[in-house]
Amino acid sequence: MFSLDTTPPDKYIITGTTTAEQLAISASKNSNCQKSTRGCVIYNPRTAWFAIGFNSPPQPLFCSGKCFDNCNKFAIHAEQMCINEALKIHRSAFGCVIAHVKTVGGNLVPSGEPSCWQCSRAMLEAGLSGMWLYHDYGWKLYDVLSFHKETLKNCGIDY
Ligand SMILES: [Zn+2]
Ligand SMILES: [Zn+2]
Repeated sequence: MFSLDTTPPDKYIITGTTTAEQLAISASKNSNCQKSTRGCVIYNPRTAWFAIGFNSPPQPLFCSGKCFDNCNKFAIHAEQMCINEALKIHRSAFGCVIAHVKTVGGNLVPSGEPSCWQCSRAMLEAGLSGMWLYHDYGWKLYDVLSFHKETLKNCGIDY
């Protein structure tokens, strides 16, 4: 139903020998959030560019132990930062693919089910076509409209 490059992020080479998964993991290492460290990469399968993002409060703010219960309100999520970067640098993220990772101690762990409506909404609005999310069984590709609908459903919203 959508024609995307379906190479998973651990196989998809973005630059040199670096995969999309490695880029997203290294982006997550910029996050200083004590609750959850996340990274994203947006790439266009037809060109060489990419943008990265990680979860963090907007500069000059930073995550402290105090924010633990409210990180989702203080921090810009990795997806949002990544979209902002893509728009700043490349003017558009239309038709691009986004991959999201959660890391613990720099290692990839399952992200959990889609649950962030702010991000899924922004991803759809930005015109992204595909979303890769890492589960305990491996990488799964969603089309962004289905991802948003599944997110809303998981948030108890029957759209
Ligand atoms: Zn935090
Ligand atoms: Zn989010």
